[in-house]
Amino acid sequence: MASEKSFELRIITPDRVFYEGSVEMVEMDTKEGAIGVYKSHVPTTCILRPGILTIHMEGNEKKQAALHSGFVEVLKDRVTVLAEAAEWPQEIDVERAKQAKERAEARLQDRSTDMDTLRAEMALRRAITRIKAAK
Ligand code: ATP
Repeated sequence: MASEKSFELRIITPDRVFYEGSVEMVEMDTKEGAIGVYKSHVPTTCILRPGILTIHMEGNEKKQAALHSGFVEVLKDRVTVLAEAAEWPQEIDVERAKQAKERAEARLQDRSTDMDTLRAEMALRRAITRIKAAK
């Protein structure tokens, strides 16, 4: 049974429903900074940035994952996340993430256009998030 404090969280990526369930709090990174959402939050929408997702379930249980770009819609009793990618720790290929991090760092050393810099910064952020989430 869902507690009085809980609300529905749904996280969707292009290939699956990543998470669906009743939760008490969810934390994620947005363009405006880190947010922690409880039930009855003021309705809002935010743009996500790659970062660690923390889902707080009933009974002090929590789950963490890597959550990348996309957006989140916050309603009083429902939070919906549409993300480009998300991975649970055990799904992360750390070697691949380390290689992506090195590629992004090398690109950032050789800044040519603004577009490339932004892209490399986002790739670096995704790689760092994956390495952190896998621990
Ligand atoms: P790479 O350069 O290694 O492809 P990327 O950051 O460009 O990394 P994304 O475009 O964010 O990759 O993701 C493409 C798909 O690959 C997504 O489904 C994502 O979940 C998956 N993915 C990317 N990197 C990893 C990883 N290190 N471990 C597991 N899955 C990954």
